[in-house]
Amino acid sequence: MDEQFREHLYTIDEAGRRKWVYASCIKGRFYYLRAAVAYVLMAVYLGLPWIKINGRPGALFDIGNRKFFFLGFEFWATDLFVLTLLFGLAAFGMFFFTALFGRVWCGWACPETVFLEFLFRPLERLVEGSAAQRERRDRSGWSLEKFVRKCVKHALCAAISLFFALTFVAYFWGAEKTFEILQQSPGANHGAWLLLAAILALMAFQFGWFREQFCTVLCPYARFQSVLMDSDSLIVGYDLVRGEQRGKLRRRKDSSGDCIDCGLCLRVCPTGIDIRNGLQLECLACAQCIDACNSVMKTIGRPLGLIRYDTGNGLLGREMRVLRPRILFYGVLLLAYVFSLSVLLYRRPDTEFQISRAKESELFSVLPDGRTTNLFRLHISNKGTKTRSYRLVLENNDVGIECIVPGMPVAVSAGAMATVPVFISFEHFVMSGGKRAVSLTLYDQEGFAGTQQIMLLGPAVEK
Ligand code: SF4
Ligand code: SF4
Repeated sequence: MDEQFREHLYTIDEAGRRKWVYASCIKGRFYYLRAAVAYVLMAVYLGLPWIKINGRPGALFDIGNRKFFFLGFEFWATDLFVLTLLFGLAAFGMFFFTALFGRVWCGWACPETVFLEFLFRPLERLVEGSAAQRERRDRSGWSLEKFVRKCVKHALCAAISLFFALTFVAYFWGAEKTFEILQQSPGANHGAWLLLAAILALMAFQFGWFREQFCTVLCPYARFQSVLMDSDSLIVGYDLVRGEQRGKLRRRKDSSGDCIDCGLCLRVCPTGIDIRNGLQLECLACAQCIDACNSVMKTIGRPLGLIRYDTGNGLLGREMRVLRPRILFYGVLLLAYVFSLSVLLYRRPDTEFQISRAKESELFSVLPDGRTTNLFRLHISNKGTKTRSYRLVLENNDVGIECIVPGMPVAVSAGAMATVPVFISFEHFVMSGGKRAVSLTLYDQEGFAGTQQIMLLGPAVEK
C-alpha cells in the first residue's frame, strides 16, 4: 500500500492551508450509543463544579488553599499518599484501557469530542444545514442569508462557550466565588474578568474554528497512544481482505471486494481521513465511519462490518489475544492502586493533628517559681463536614506536669485548620538527663482520639 498519506495531514493542503472538514452525519447504532453516553457525560462535566456531594463541591481544584474536592471526597496537600495513588491510578487506568480498548476515550468520552460532536455540530447543522449545503455556501460569495446564518451560529457558539468558560473557572474558583465575581463589576476585579474573557475566547476559538486540529496536531495523548497499543488492541478498522478490490457499484466484477468506493466513510469522518488506508494517528475511533459503511452495506445487501471495531489481528483473520503480558501487567498494577486507594480512603481519619515545638521560642524557660516551661504548637486539620471541638489531654500524668491550651476546647470549622499554643510546665525533678518523653492525646466529641509523643526539655540538674 502506498504510505504517502502518512506524510501529511488530511486537513492541510499542499500550500499549508487548512482544509475545512464538512463532516456529514449518518445516524446508526454507534451514533445513538455515543449520543447517550455523551449527554450523560455533558451533565457530569458541566454539572460537577456547581453541585454539592456530602456538603462538599462535586469537583474543585482549590489551588490557593491547596485542597482538591472530588465526588464528595476532600484531599489536602498533606494527603500526599492519596494524591500519589490517584495520579498512579489515572496513569495506569489510561495505559490499561488504551492497551485493551484503543482510543475509546477519544471517540466516546473526551470533552472535545463530546461537546463538538453532540452540541456544536448539531447546532451547526440546525443553523447552516447539511455538510453539502455548508460547503456550497462557504464556497459561494457573501449574501444576506449567509451573513445572518453565520452570525446566528457564532452567537450561539459564543453563548455556549460563555457557560463553558464559567464552568471551567468554577472548577478552580468554586461555584460561590464564581457567582460572587459575576456580581462584581469588571473594574472591581479586573484580573478575574480578564481570565474569564480569555477562557471564553479560547473556548469559542476551539469549538468554533480550531476543532479537530486539537486532536490531530496538539493532543499529547494521541501522540503516545501508539506505544500503548498493539495489534490486539481494539481499533476501528477496514476489512482489507473483504473490501478489496474496491470498485464502483456499476463496474463490479466477480472478483470485486465489498467496498463500492462510495466515499461515505470519508465524508463522515470528523478528522477527514480515509480509514481504508489503515490505522492512523488522526483516527479518534469515533465509529462514524462504521455507521456510514453499515448503511451502505445494508443498501447493497452485503453483510455489515466491512468497517468495524476489531483488533489489528482480527481484521487480518488472525487469532486475537485479550490476555497478554501488557494487559496483565497494567491490570495487576491497576488493581493494586484501586485496592490501596480504597483502603486509604476508608481508613482516612477526618482529623489530623501535629504537635511541634514552637520555633520562635527558647527550647525551655525557667519560671521565677522554679518550674520549667516548654512551648509547643498544636496544628489541627478538620477534614470532616461539621465543626468539631477538640481537647488535648496529657496521659499518665502522675508527676504534676501541667498542660495548658488557651481556649480549650478548640473549635475547628469543617474543612479548616487551626493552630493553638500548648504550654507545658513541670518541676525539674521529672527530667532525666534534661529531658522527658510524654504522650498527649487529642479527643473530639465524636470519639476521635489520636496520641502523639513529644519530648520535654529542661536544665540537666543532678538529682
Ligand atoms: S463507506 Fe464502505 S463501501 Fe463506501 S467507500 Fe467506505 S468502506 Fe467502501
Ligand atoms: S476513521 Fe472512522 S473512527 Fe476514525 S475518526 Fe474517522 S470516522 Fe472516526
